[in-house]
Amino acid sequence: MGDVSKGRLIIISGPSGAGKSTVVRRLLETCEIPLQLSVSATTRKARTGEVDGVDYYFLDQSEFDRRRERGEFLECKEVFGLGYWYGTLRQQVATGLAEGRWVILEIDVAGAIDILDEEQLDPITIFIHTGGVESLEDRLRGRQTESEEVIAARLRTAKNEMKSMHRYQYQVINDSVDRAVAEICQYLEEYRETRAC
Ligand code: 5GP
Repeated sequence: MGDVSKGRLIIISGPSGAGKSTVVRRLLETCEIPLQLSVSATTRKARTGEVDGVDYYFLDQSEFDRRRERGEFLECKEVFGLGYWYGTLRQQVATGLAEGRWVILEIDVAGAIDILDEEQLDPITIFIHTGGVESLEDRLRGRQTESEEVIAARLRTAKNEMKSMHRYQYQVINDSVDRAVAEICQYLEEYRETRAC
C-alpha cells in the first residue's frame, strides 16, 4: 500500500442511528489532529442532499464488482443484508496516510474486523454507541429517511454490532455530541503525545 507509515488509521464503528456521522463531521471541524475522512463507495442510492464524491462514491453494482475484482477495496461488505454494498477504497487510505494524515474510516464492524485480522495497519479503533438499542430506534425513525424494512434491518445489525464492541480499543457513549467529540479528540491528542516521546 506504499509508504503509509507517516499517518495513522482510525476506525470508527457503531450502530446505525448512534450519531457517528455527526460526531465525525464535528471532529473534522474542531480537532487539532490532521484528520481526513475516507470517502467510501456504496451501491445504495443517494439520499436527498447527499453528494457523489463527498458523502460516498455512488456506484452501480457492476462498477462496484469491477473495482472489487481489481482489488481496489481495502475491505467491502454488504452491510445490512439488503443487497447494498459498501467498501473502503485503498487509494483514499493510502494517499491520506502517505501525506501524514489521520485517516478516519467510518465502517461497519464486519469490515473493521477484516482490517484488524488481515491488514498490518495498526489502527486506532473507536466504537460509538448510545448505551442501548431503544434510543437507536427513536433516532432512526426521527430521521424519516428509511422504510420499516430498512429500520428493522438496521436494528438487527445494531444488536449484533453491540456484541463486538469489545474488539475496539475505545468505546464512547454519544449522549451529547459535544461531549463525545471532546472525549474522542482528547483521546487522539493524548495518543499523539504518547507516541511522540
Ligand atoms: P448509511 O447507509 O447510513 O450511510 O451507512 C450505513 C452503514 O454502512 C454505516 O453504519 C457505516 O458504518 C457502514 N459503512 C459505510 N461505509 C462503509 C465501508 O466502506 N465499509 C463498510 N464495511 N461499512 C461501511
